[in-house]
Amino acid sequence: MARHVRLIAVLNDSDHIVIVGAGLAGWRFAEAIRREGFIGRLTLVGEEAHYPYDRPPLSKQVLLGRWDVGKVALATDELIEKYDVQLRLGERATALDVASTTVRVEGGSSIVGSHVVIATGTRARRLQYSAQRDLFTLRSRDDAVRLLEALEQLEPQSTVAVVGGGFIGAEVATALQARGLRPVVLEAAKRPLIAILGEQVSTWLERLANNAGIELRTEQKVSDIEKVEGGFRLHFENSLPLDSAIVIVAAGAVANVEWLANSGLTIDNGVVVSADLLATERIGAIGDVARFTWPNTAGEESVRIEHWQTANDHASSLARFWMTGAHTDGLMVPYFWSDQYGKKIQMLGHARPSDDVQLVSGSLDEAKWTAVYSRAGTVTGVVTLSHPRALMLSKKLLESTTTLENALVDAPWSN
Ligand SMILES: Cc1cc2nc3c(=O)[nH]c(=O)nc-3n(C[C@H](O)[C@H](O)[C@H](O)COP(=O)(O)OP(=O)(O)OC[C@H]3O[C@@H](n4cnc5c(N)ncnc54)[C@H](O)[C@@H]3O)c2cc1C
Repeated sequence: MARHVRLIAVLNDSDHIVIVGAGLAGWRFAEAIRREGFIGRLTLVGEEAHYPYDRPPLSKQVLLGRWDVGKVALATDELIEKYDVQLRLGERATALDVASTTVRVEGGSSIVGSHVVIATGTRARRLQYSAQRDLFTLRSRDDAVRLLEALEQLEPQSTVAVVGGGFIGAEVATALQARGLRPVVLEAAKRPLIAILGEQVSTWLERLANNAGIELRTEQKVSDIEKVEGGFRLHFENSLPLDSAIVIVAAGAVANVEWLANSGLTIDNGVVVSADLLATERIGAIGDVARFTWPNTAGEESVRIEHWQTANDHASSLARFWMTGAHTDGLMVPYFWSDQYGKKIQMLGHARPSDDVQLVSGSLDEAKWTAVYSRAGTVTGVVTLSHPRALMLSKKLLESTTTLENALVDAPWSN
């Protein structure tokens, strides 16, 4: 779907772009806008003390002990110099004045830009338990270091409760088992990932934990977690207490939007932006924090997507739009992967849990398969287990509207 291209570039050399949030989306935007040829000022404000870094390896290679945590860095001194980015790390933005595109920073200083990119991402959801302050979450590099230090103190085969059986919970449990510990995954729903992947696919995935020898308890409503001698005690609404050496809470993420409360921007489970990722002509939002209008094969939706690939795609789309006026050409196809219980789950598209699902290749027994989601006869997603090639070949089904009927005839996954 080619949309029109404006002839006049939106940015000029005297502009100053202030990027708030020095994570994946913020850093990728800085890279992308320079590659597009922007030579004005670029300031990147981030509350964390670290150079921008990548989060997916934290729950995989880093927690498994295969990577030193330093390897997650995205930016280096050379790249920061090359892209001429003024870094303001360890500084938290506290407010945004929309009319003057001014970002206020903790401590009282202000940064006046001509344009602002909001890329403040999400944080781990915290649940209200008695021992809350002593529980672990895994969102940041510092969280990973803190968790690794605690894991190194544990005796082999110590029980470690993981509250939440979603993507991060499953990846953490996989790493704990590889480290010689005994993870117990506590999932509140009937099955893990049911709210994302739907009834059928979650049934197919349910056996993964079991096959990997990891204890997964479903329909577990944790009512409280208290500190006891030697560890923690978890209390449940519906079963007996569980003692655990440490507890890791993986209960989803919340958008970092509080600093925008008085800005006048529309905030509704994220910063609401257009299909061009704009909140106003000079203020954009990208990555996990952006709730954007998304044209897709099944129509148009307002969504917030917490995927690595979406943060990358947003960064390059906004940079291109501000430099050239070019709207995103074609449909963005969301993609995520997760390495859990010894398998790789990958998904493309915008399926809803209520969509129809059809297994189109492989088999559940060999734990290698491809399934297609559809809504009213139109393909909305493709999910694979340990079948990356099939996923890659199926992408075209989501780049333009494809009927399920045509997809089944074409069967790109089998090439
Ligand atoms: C452990 C882990 C594993 C993951 N694995 C996968 C995976 O396998 N596949 C996948 O697709 N996705 C995965 N993800 C998700 C992926 O990492 C995110 O989608 C991506 O990081 C989003 O980038 P972002 O820049 O929008 O947000 P973030 O990475 O959250 O970066 C936002 C930055 O803004 C900073 N910030 C927040 N508020 C302020 C403020 N007021 N002032 C200044 N700075 C602020 C934050 O500290 C943070 O550094 C994983 C995430 C985690 C945590």
